[in-house]
Amino acid sequence: VISLADVDLSLGSGPARVHILKKVSLAVAAGETVALVGPSGSGKSTLLMAMAGLERIDSGRLSVSGVELSQEDEDGLARFRGANVGIIFQSFHLIPNMTALENVAVPLELQGRRDAFARAEAELRLVGLGHRLTHYPSALSGGEQQRVAIARALVAEPAVIFADEPTGNLDEATGRQIADLLFETSARRGTTLVLVTHDNALATRCARVVRIHSGIIDRSEAVRSAAE
Ligand code: ATP
Ligand code: MG
Repeated sequence: VISLADVDLSLGSGPARVHILKKVSLAVAAGETVALVGPSGSGKSTLLMAMAGLERIDSGRLSVSGVELSQEDEDGLARFRGANVGIIFQSFHLIPNMTALENVAVPLELQGRRDAFARAEAELRLVGLGHRLTHYPSALSGGEQQRVAIARALVAEPAVIFADEPTGNLDEATGRQIADLLFETSARRGTTLVLVTHDNALATRCARVVRIHSGIIDRSEAVRSAAE
C-alpha cells in the first residue's frame, strides 16, 4: 500500500538547502504496522510528511494507496490527504477555536458527508471522550487532546495512518492507553500504521521496525516483510 523507490528529498532553499532523505526505498504492505526509528535529525518526520503528502520529494517514486504523489499538484495532494490518510502529530495540532466534536468532524465535512457530526460523535465515544464533545482543546488534558487527534485521524476510516511520536508528550500510563487505542483500532479495521517513535516499548509492538540514520534506510530493511 506504500512504496518508495530511491526517494531524495531536500528542505530549505538556496545555501540553506539540506539534503535530508537519500535514495530511500521502502515497501509497506496493507494492514502492516511499522515503527520508524532512528536518531534525532535522521529524517523520520520528514519521511513521514513525504508519505502523508505534506512534503514534496525531489526525485524517485512515492506511491501511497495507488496514488503517485510526485504526479499530483497541490489540489491533488490535498484530495489525497483527505481521502486516504490520517495524520497524528506529537503536539496534537487540534484547531483551537473548534470543539472536540467540530475538530473530529472536519475530515468528514471536507468529504461533504451529511452524517459528519453523528459519525464524529461515535468516534469520540470510541476513544472514551463521549463526555468531552463540546470542550475546546484548551480545556482538555494532553491525553484527551491526543485522543481527539486520534479520533480525527481515524474518523474517515483511512487506509493508512501516519503517527509522529503520538505518545511523546504524554506520561507513561496515558501513552500506553493511547498506543492501545491506536493498535486496537487499526487492527480491527485493517488499517496500515506507520509510526515514528523513540520509545522502544512502542516500537516493538509494531510488526516491523525500520531504522533510518542520516536520511538512509538500509536495503535489507526496506523490503523485509512482516512475515519473514
Ligand atoms: P527528531 O527525532 O528530533 O524529531 P527527525 O528524525 O524527525 O528528528 P527531521 O525532523 O525529519 O528529523 O529532520 C531531519 C533533518 O532535516 C534535521 O537535520 C533538520 O535539521 C533538517 N531540517 C528540517 N526542516 C528543515 C528545513 N526547513 N530546512 C533545512 N533543514 C531542515
Ligand atoms: Mg521528528
